[in-house]
Amino acid sequence: MKEARARSQRAEVVIERLGQKLSRQIVGSMVACVHCGLCTQSCHYVLANPGDPTFAPAYKADRIRKLFKRHYDWTGRVLPWWVKAGTVWTDEELEELKDIVFGKCTNCRRCTVNCPMGVDLATFNRMARGLLVSVGVMPEGVAVVSKDQWEIGNQMGVLKEDYLDTLAWMEEEVREELNDPGFRIPIDEPDCDVIYAVNPREVKYDPRTIADAARIFHLAGEKWTMPSEGWDQTNFGLFSGDDALGGSVARRLYEKAIELRAKKLVISECGHGYRSTRCEGPNWAKFDVPFEMESSIITMLGYIRQGRIRVDRTRNAKSMTYHDSCNLARSCGMTEEPRELLGLVCTDFREMHPNRAENFCCTGGGGAMSMSEYTPLRLKSGVVKADQLRATGAQVVVTSCHNCVDGLSDLIRHYQLGMEVTQLVNLVANAAIVPERVLVPVAAPAPPPEVPIPALPLAGKVLVVADDEPDQVEFLATVFEDHGARVYRAASGDEALVLAQREKPDLLTLDLHMPGRDVGEVFELLRRDPELATLKICVITGRPELRRLIYERGVRPPDGYLDKPVDQDRLLLNVRKILEVAHNG
Ligand code: SF4
Ligand code: SF4
Repeated sequence: MKEARARSQRAEVVIERLGQKLSRQIVGSMVACVHCGLCTQSCHYVLANPGDPTFAPAYKADRIRKLFKRHYDWTGRVLPWWVKAGTVWTDEELEELKDIVFGKCTNCRRCTVNCPMGVDLATFNRMARGLLVSVGVMPEGVAVVSKDQWEIGNQMGVLKEDYLDTLAWMEEEVREELNDPGFRIPIDEPDCDVIYAVNPREVKYDPRTIADAARIFHLAGEKWTMPSEGWDQTNFGLFSGDDALGGSVARRLYEKAIELRAKKLVISECGHGYRSTRCEGPNWAKFDVPFEMESSIITMLGYIRQGRIRVDRTRNAKSMTYHDSCNLARSCGMTEEPRELLGLVCTDFREMHPNRAENFCCTGGGGAMSMSEYTPLRLKSGVVKADQLRATGAQVVVTSCHNCVDGLSDLIRHYQLGMEVTQLVNLVANAAIVPERVLVPVAAPAPPPEVPIPALPLAGKVLVVADDEPDQVEFLATVFEDHGARVYRAASGDEALVLAQREKPDLLTLDLHMPGRDVGEVFELLRRDPELATLKICVITGRPELRRLIYERGVRPPDGYLDKPVDQDRLLLNVRKILEVAHNG
């Protein structure tokens, strides 16, 4: 029977496209739920929000399932009230669905492994995300990141010259550290045994992980290369549910590896990147991948097992625990290799409970870090993870995922856990014994007192810090002052403008969300001021979706970009790079 009420065009499209997405796996999960409730306590949203049934996995699943029942299952047409069939009519209803599938589920799949009927909520939650994205209903951050990955080729909009510049910078650092003029980070070398692909977060915020990996490849005597293009092993298509984006991103990487005739693609530590590139990508891209793919965890473990690198685990003496990334552990079954590697490179490992496939999400999964509108709920629901971390008593949490690094860092800060976060590559590089031939010469005896103390790295630099959060201003300013800079503090865009014009600083750090004048306008005024032509600007923001405020103004983009929360090492590394101050001062 034809419906009398008018349906919005978007709702029409969503219902029609749902029909095209119904694979055997999806339909199986749509019909198998018996509402036993066994999955309920699996979900960190449920545990952190007691008394609210709308967080239960089966409840959330039913918001999507009702559409299937109503439009594609005979039971919903015959007995709609019995099987809770329903539909969507308006764009407002699609927005409500958006808040469920993006805001109340990180697609962590913990409920899935605890369902006796094999219902895979995360998979059809991802499908629902994809349907909404296809009609333009999505969080702003998802739109921004997807656009960057479609148009620039990587999730963080890193330009090719910046990527290559970062590799050159890291090459120089490691060459100095090893005192080995022969050290290189090879780019686009054909016929290598290994091609190494990284996460853009490494290029933009954490280049030390690239340096550490390069150091390990070099010490292992590997014949390796990095690609100049198609180097992003992450894939926002996994989070947004956009299979076309997923296929396009994966294909770029596969084609580059084939062009260079690489024998094996090694994927740096990233849970969703590994799952997307190795497991899902060939299907999304409809691509028969002719080379081997492996996680760098396996590569590093292999080097130690084969004696290609030797390690001294006493160099990593702090107490450590391991956080299993949902994508690596639950979706890809990689639980033992990271532990074996940890056992080889650190002295005090403490297991977190529950762990492996039962571990709780860092709460930054499923692209949650890019959806700032859900941050308060994410942090509140992160209490489950925070309690897990605290109970280990460890000083350091190790994880093999850049997304988890950000998610965990945010929770550690929010719940004041006082822990550090690191990755296996950092620990392996630190433990790796440098053979005699590349040993740094023994340092000269301690200098006599009259030898001048080396200048602090930011000595002589003038900086303006602009942020409306007093804690953030103090943190940034203190770090810069401790490293020799003269710092001016601003709490609004107007103040930043006045200080920049008066003090002519070397660098301005700019929050994108401050009271008063629109920060995009401030940015444009700074860029158009001829007296500030040499001013470097580093955006530091907790609202990545606001990047459009500055990128759409047709002026020179920022010289650096950091997402909050930001730690001291990352801050200094990036600011020194922007100001072209060498690592050793
Ligand atoms: S999804 Fe599985 S565990 Fe959860 S209510 Fe349905 S059948 Fe039970
Ligand atoms: S996939 Fe994870 S976040 Fe989503 S409902 Fe299941 S347990 Fe909760």
